[in-house]
Amino acid sequence: EDGSGKGAALITAVAKRLHNIDKYLYAMRLSDETLIDVMARFRREMKNGLSRDFNPTAAVKMLPTFVRSIPDGSEKGDFIALDLGGSYFRILRVKVSHEKKQTVQMESEIYNTPEDIMHGSGTRLFDHVAECLGDFMEKQQIKDKKLPVGFTFSFPCRQSKLDEGILITWTKRFKASGVEGADVVRLLNRAIKKRGDYDADIMAVVNDTVGTMMTCGFDDQRCEVGLIIGTGTNACYMEEMRHIDLVEGDEGRMCINTEWGAFGDDGSLEDIRTEFDREIDRGSLNPGKQLFEKMVSGLYMGELVRLILVKMAKEGLLFEGRITPELLTKGKFETKHVSAIEKSKEGLNKAKEILTRLGVEPSHEDCIAVQHVCTIVSFRSANLVASTLGAILNQLRDNKGVGRLRTTVGVDGSLYKMHPQYARRLHKTTRRLVPDSEVRFLLSESGSGKGAAMVTAVAYRLGDAGNR
Ligand code: BGC
Ligand code: MG
Repeated sequence: EDGSGKGAALITAVAKRLHNIDKYLYAMRLSDETLIDVMARFRREMKNGLSRDFNPTAAVKMLPTFVRSIPDGSEKGDFIALDLGGSYFRILRVKVSHEKKQTVQMESEIYNTPEDIMHGSGTRLFDHVAECLGDFMEKQQIKDKKLPVGFTFSFPCRQSKLDEGILITWTKRFKASGVEGADVVRLLNRAIKKRGDYDADIMAVVNDTVGTMMTCGFDDQRCEVGLIIGTGTNACYMEEMRHIDLVEGDEGRMCINTEWGAFGDDGSLEDIRTEFDREIDRGSLNPGKQLFEKMVSGLYMGELVRLILVKMAKEGLLFEGRITPELLTKGKFETKHVSAIEKSKEGLNKAKEILTRLGVEPSHEDCIAVQHVCTIVSFRSANLVASTLGAILNQLRDNKGVGRLRTTVGVDGSLYKMHPQYARRLHKTTRRLVPDSEVRFLLSESGSGKGAAMVTAVAYRLGDAGNR
C-alpha cells in the first residue's frame, strides 16, 4: 500500500513537471488554428513568388526548374549523378536499361567535403568536386568516356534552362566565396577543363527536391511533390505553366522549386518565432536568412534543444541548476541525439547517456523532462512542415479543380528518415490540415541520384534529337 502511494506521488510529480515544461515552451506548441493560419500565409507566399510583379521581392522564390514531366518509363542510358549539399557529397553511376521493363542499376561513392573547403574559395570547392569526380571515373574505369552528368546541387538556383544554375545564396553549412551570382555548371566545367584528364557533359542542374520527386515518380506515376527534411528543408511540386509568369507559355506543367526554407525572411513569421529561434539565427552562417528552415531542419534542431536546456538549467528547472562547459558548447547536442532520446523504448536510457556525457548528472526526472523538450521541438518542426506542405496540396487540388486530391509526395532527408516519430506525426498533421485529400508519402529509398539521372536522360534524349 505504502509503495503504490509513493508511486502515485511520483507520477503526479512527473506529470506536474511535464505540465510546467508545456507552459514554459508554450510558444513552441502550435495550435491547429495557428497551423491553418501558417498554411494560408504560405499559400500567399507561393502566389507572390509565382507572379512577375512580386517575384523580385518575394521571400519564397518559387524557382522554375525546367523539368516538365515526371519519368515516363522510356528513359535509358549510362549516367553520372553528382549530389552536393546534403549530409554527404555522393557521386553515383546510374545505368538505366530496357529489357522488357525499365531497370536501374546504381553504384556510388561518398566523398568528404572538409569544412575549410565549404568555407574557402569557390574555385577550390569546384576543384575538389572535379577531383572527386575524376577519382570516381577512375574507379569505374570510364575516364575515357564522356558520360552525361546530372548535378544535384541542393541550394537555391535561378535557371533559365536545365543546364544552368545561378546560385542565389548559400544555405546550411556552405559559404564558399565567389559562387553566389555565378553559374555552377560553368564553374564545374572550368574545374574539369583545367584538369584535362577526363571529359564530362553536364546536362542538368537539379535541386534535391526535384531529384527526389523524380526518383519517386519512377515508382509512382502520381508523384508530383518532392519534399526534403534533412540538414535543410525544402519542397518542389508540379505547377501549371499558366500560373508561372516567369516562364513563357501556358501549356502543360513545370516543376517549381519553392525554396520554402526562406519563408519568414521578410518578417512574416515573427509572431511564431521564439527567443531560441532568434538565437539560432544570430549564431548561424547566414543571419536573417532561411528563417523557416532554422525552425525545422536537422542542422538546427539539436542546437535549439541545447539552447532551451541551457536556459532551463540556468533557471534551476533542470539538473538542479548544474551547468557544464559541455552543455554550453555550441553543437554539443545534435539532432541525432534528439532522435535517440525520442525512441519509445530506449529513449530514456539514451537521454541518461547523452546528458551524462555533457556532465550534468541527470536524475531520472531530468531525463523525462529533456525527452519532453525534444518532443516539443521536433513536433513543432513536423507541424510547420505539415502547414507548408498543406498549402502545396491545396494549390494542387485547386489546379486540378477536384473536390478531393489524390497524390503522392516523394520524401527524403536524414531527419525524416532517422527520427522515430517524425514521419508519423507529419503524415497525421498533414491529413488533419488537408482533410479532403488522399496523400501517399513515398520514401525515396535511393536518394535523389536516380531522379537526377532521369532528368539527365530526358535532356540527353531531347538534345540528341535536336542535333540530328
Ligand atoms: C536549400 C534547398 C534544398 C534544401 C534541402 C535548403 O537549404 O536552400 O535548395 O533543397 O536545403 O537540402
Ligand atoms: Mg506562363
